[in-house]
Amino acid sequence: MAAFLLGEDHARFMSKSSDLQDRLEQKWVSEANKLGYIIASDLESQIMSGKSPRVPGKRIFREFVFRHYMEVVELANDTAIAETQVIDHEKRLAKSPRIPRKLAEVRKAYDIWKRTGRMPKGLADQAAKIQDLYLKSVHKVWKRYSEDFRAGDEVGRFDIVKKVKKAADVANSRAKNIVRTETTNHYNEVRAEIYDQNEGIWGYLFLAIRDHATTKWCTDKTKGGKRGRHGLVYKKGDPLTTKERPSCHWNCRSEMTPLTPYNPRHKRLIENDFMQRRNHTCHPLPEGWR
Ligand SMILES: [Zn+2]
Repeated sequence: MAAFLLGEDHARFMSKSSDLQDRLEQKWVSEANKLGYIIASDLESQIMSGKSPRVPGKRIFREFVFRHYMEVVELANDTAIAETQVIDHEKRLAKSPRIPRKLAEVRKAYDIWKRTGRMPKGLADQAAKIQDLYLKSVHKVWKRYSEDFRAGDEVGRFDIVKKVKKAADVANSRAKNIVRTETTNHYNEVRAEIYDQNEGIWGYLFLAIRDHATTKWCTDKTKGGKRGRHGLVYKKGDPLTTKERPSCHWNCRSEMTPLTPYNPRHKRLIENDFMQRRNHTCHPLPEGWR
């Protein structure tokens, strides 16, 4: 479908950039796993040495979130710039103001954080959200068993360790969901920022390639009179375009790819009334999403 809509070149590029996103996502999910392992081992040794288990402070969560963000921004930057060359062979888009300043901004913010501890609010909130998952689940379990632990009840240390580690595991799998979803969020956000500045970009095509069009929000199917979004065209500046920029739900992997009238295939999409998002009723995004 992507090749049919976008043309061979652009579709091939999209599938390559999807692979890169997949790889980056997998890398950070496995980084989240490592972080979870460190936390769980730490909790274990604290309990075994007779202490109440404490989840690490915000620093390691902030470091994690910041590094993840930097790498996603870097990839989004690279693919956005390469893509403008693929979709317009005459390179008219490339003449529009250069943009990689986003990456420089993020690197600067990272240095500032290292020096002063100040961090952009969105990232600090995300780090706090992950830390909170561990804090809440571990403390809940600990509260329930700490009396027994102190009383030297038959619930031995090993049992408590097992329960606390299991709680940490649950927190870890939620943390991985955050990583997956935020990879999509950051990626699409940075690309939109870049394309929105380029006058040759008219709007976007919603693609659920990585999402395999599996959810009602992102499929191209219609159910109960409401359509999913795969294959619909969004105009730049339309409030819907910002509102429905992926992620659209937990673990969403959809993306918006730029459309330019310079590209004959894109021009056909732009001019096709039936393809426009605003001409369709879509399943509303999940309650309270973003
Ligand atoms: Zn989705």
